[in-house]
Amino acid sequence: MESFDYIVIGGGSAGSAVAGRLAVDGTRRVCLIEAGGRNDNILVKTPGFMPFLLKNANYRYETVPQKGLNGRTGYQPRGKGLGGSSAINAMVYIRGGRWDYDNWAAMGCTGWAYDDVLPYFKRAEANERGGDDYHGAGGPLFVSDQHYANPTSHAFVEAAAALQLRTTTDFNGARQDGFGIYQVTQRNGERWTSARAYVEPIRDQGNFTIRTDTLVERLVIEGGRVTGVQIRRGGASETLLARRGVVLSAGAFNSPQILMLSGIGPAAHLKAHGIDVVLDRTEVGGNLQDHIDYVSGWETTSDVPIGSTLKGSLRMAAAIVEHRRKRTGVMTTPYAEAGGFWSVMPDSPAPDVQWHFVPAVLEDHGREKVKAHGFSLHACVLRPESRGTVRLGSADAAAAPVIDPNFLDDDRDMAVLRAGVRLSHRIAEAPPLQAFGPTDRHPVDLNDDAALNAMIRARADTVYHPVGTCRMGSDAEAVVDPTLKLNGLEGLWVADASVMPKIVSGNTNAPSIMIGERCADFVMAAEK
Ligand SMILES: Cc1cc2nc3c(=O)[nH]c(=O)nc-3n(C[C@H](O)[C@H](O)[C@H](O)COP(=O)(O)OP(=O)(O)OC[C@H]3O[C@@H](n4cnc5c(N)ncnc54)[C@H](O)[C@@H]3O)c2cc1C
Repeated sequence: MESFDYIVIGGGSAGSAVAGRLAVDGTRRVCLIEAGGRNDNILVKTPGFMPFLLKNANYRYETVPQKGLNGRTGYQPRGKGLGGSSAINAMVYIRGGRWDYDNWAAMGCTGWAYDDVLPYFKRAEANERGGDDYHGAGGPLFVSDQHYANPTSHAFVEAAAALQLRTTTDFNGARQDGFGIYQVTQRNGERWTSARAYVEPIRDQGNFTIRTDTLVERLVIEGGRVTGVQIRRGGASETLLARRGVVLSAGAFNSPQILMLSGIGPAAHLKAHGIDVVLDRTEVGGNLQDHIDYVSGWETTSDVPIGSTLKGSLRMAAAIVEHRRKRTGVMTTPYAEAGGFWSVMPDSPAPDVQWHFVPAVLEDHGREKVKAHGFSLHACVLRPESRGTVRLGSADAAAAPVIDPNFLDDDRDMAVLRAGVRLSHRIAEAPPLQAFGPTDRHPVDLNDDAALNAMIRARADTVYHPVGTCRMGSDAEAVVDPTLKLNGLEGLWVADASVMPKIVSGNTNAPSIMIGERCADFVMAAEK
């Protein structure tokens, strides 16, 4: 049996950071296991191919029918391959705000207040603007200004300003609130995944083994300690040994799935799938939170926005050639080019809605092709109250888990979303965006709560930020403790979006990478 010091399961946003940090000094034998491939291709590297990845090249999970969405199922794309979801995401670089992390600390996550996590965000970051009190310049994760943004994205920011809303050039500095153009995880016009940041630079080091196209089936547990993992590759199963420990970084859906397949989870549920119970942990797979999101859309008489008309398609073809030659132009678009954070509820301690402005018409996650030019405005609920679950559908590790985000179960989420959608429309109706001749694709009486609720239930879905299913805390029920160690077992840490006790107020890639950075330190500290 092959053996290593550490095995990291999942080469995604967090797993790449953990594995890279553990392996980089050459003193530990580290094995990174990833179910997907190397992801070293033009589709991943070219930002403008994101719609293809979102539609095709990922796990393409579906939720169970959602009562709050009129019984519709939701789409849950998740990245597969090195980089994980950072290899298919919209590259928006956001950390969440001070309030989020101070609240984690107040919830029992000792050592996770904003001032505790800020040094790790900075350590990870290579911001092309340079370093300051809030930003790092020497880390592996490249953060860049957009070198191209559509005129409608700039008009969106001007429209917010016309409504006297604050504008900003840095959502990750002293203040998060405001509207502006997003910074992105790109380098020289290419997508910069967590794997490109942490794994690729050391992939040839002798102490570092990367096993792609390899599925982890379950953990091997002996005498209260995780000693290895059972993997499957090309139809055959084998066991790999981990002398010092295993880090589970398979993401908010697959980390709880792997724990449950290994006998760690709600006992009755495990027994129902014929799995021997090692630890009865009711919270594994619970506490699922996600940003419920509504996309308002307008077609424009102007063909300035990105579009699938003949003219728009020819423009994109030329842009692909430009990107191949110079790594510049429209194909560097993250699509979510601009956005903002604002409070729509009077008692919010921090912005409660985030907007993503896309200079294109977007329907059904881009899976429906619309032959028109236009723009779309996402509004999502930043701190939803609804809670869902991830459960096993089968005892086979290759089968999709059963995902139930329970969207809009709590009426407070609907109230925030309604207010967010109303502000979306006020922004679109301001002169800077009106200049492009927009027509509302989904008109609704915004003054009529019931009509707006119906429209939201008919069209809302995720903005791709599931978290919380292996909750961190210092209470006995928490899945991991504040050093990310699994409660009740030796030799196992969990590091990915699943450990967030409460979803952060913003996109979740940078926070997942920060969690990976911290986990590497916790693992190394445990060696002493
Ligand atoms: C379409 C989309 C757009 C997004 N846009 C943004 C954005 O613009 N900005 C932002 O900050 N965030 C964005 N996000 C969210 C962000 O990318 C994720 O929250 C983050 O990548 C999660 O990191 P993670 O480490 O928890 O999991 P992941 O990055 O998903 O990594 C999990 C890894 O584990 C592997 N794995 C799973 N099961 C197994 C197994 N059994 N065996 C071996 N390997 C396994 C997977 O293949 C995957 O590589 C977006 C997400 C999506 C899907």
